[in-house]
Amino acid sequence: MPRVLLVEDEPAIADTLVYALETECFTVTHAVTGADALAAASREPHDFAILDIGLPDMTGLDVCRRLRETSAIPVLFLTARDGEVDRILGLELGGDDYVTKPFSPREIVARVRAILRRSGNGGAPPNITPALDSAAGLHHDKSAMRIHFAGTTLDLTAHEYKLLLVLMEKPGRVFTRDQLLDHAWQDPGAVTDRTVDAHIKSIRAKLRAACGGAENLIETRRGLGYSLAPGL
Ligand code: CA
Repeated sequence: MPRVLLVEDEPAIADTLVYALETECFTVTHAVTGADALAAASREPHDFAILDIGLPDMTGLDVCRRLRETSAIPVLFLTARDGEVDRILGLELGGDDYVTKPFSPREIVARVRAILRRSGNGGAPPNITPALDSAAGLHHDKSAMRIHFAGTTLDLTAHEYKLLLVLMEKPGRVFTRDQLLDHAWQDPGAVTDRTVDAHIKSIRAKLRAACGGAENLIETRRGLGYSLAPGL
């Protein structure tokens, strides 16, 4: 699980971001001041830093400079004003990025993933088409015929892979066991509803192994079938 150092002094923003990142299986260290952030960074290594520019004791840019003395940690800056954007652009951003407030937590998570992917440091592996091929934190790598979750490649059997793909096509939609059988088995007559249940159980266990927060990713609709959680 990638470790994120989040440095943000506005509690409401920090809370939403911590929640969004933890839901997506990041481990988050939250610091309110630049000094706290640098102390946390020296205590343990982090894979990523999200730095608010306006901090009580120094700027996010100062924090970045200090972090870079000892590591090449990728950084996403959070800015409140246009003037701050100018200052960020004055830096050699390299693999880093920035977002202007207000932003959606979802956007931040997507940016963090993208930067981690570019820097080859955790996150989902490359070669994945976003948008249509991702749902509820799952990513489908079409060419490799694999599904990634929380930065891990799921080790699925052929039927589990097909089942999960069907669910990913329409997050939130309930699929009956018959529909799932039709889509995922070439000869559905040979198997029973129980087979679907057993495979779902196994997929859930693999999701759970990849990320502890995966509990409700595949929902059971009693008497109806299964659906994939619509996501954040
Ligand atoms: Ca601030």
